[in-house]
Amino acid sequence: MKQITIKHQGKLVEDPIRFDIYGKVDPGKRDEAVVSLKSVNVYPGEIEVRKAVSESCQNNVRIQLARSATWSSANEFEQSCSWANQIVFCQEGYRPDDERAYCKKHNLYYGGILGCHVCEGFYQT
Ligand SMILES: [Zn+2]
Repeated sequence: MKQITIKHQGKLVEDPIRFDIYGKVDPGKRDEAVVSLKSVNVYPGEIEVRKAVSESCQNNVRIQLARSATWSSANEFEQSCSWANQIVFCQEGYRPDDERAYCKKHNLYYGGILGCHVCEGFYQT
């Protein structure tokens, strides 16, 4: 894969960012969640999917629902997902964490010092 390096606000950075998606599985829709999560490459296998879904339902915590999505596909996912709630977006590789920078407007947790990547326009649409 070709590595693109561009300048963003005077800093050298890598590719525009992509997004990971986290949310809480609706305990009434566990089966639907398992089927959906098996079809994406977030977890290595069905056992890991079931573990994650159980953890989310039992402990009321967010788990990873998708990885490396573009902004438009992340938003499509949020709108079409019927089996999870409290969905949030994260800069790829980051996890939702209250101590991290968070953009309310874009429901996005992000790292770095450049501010929200969507506000800045530095992301994969
Ligand atoms: Zn933003």
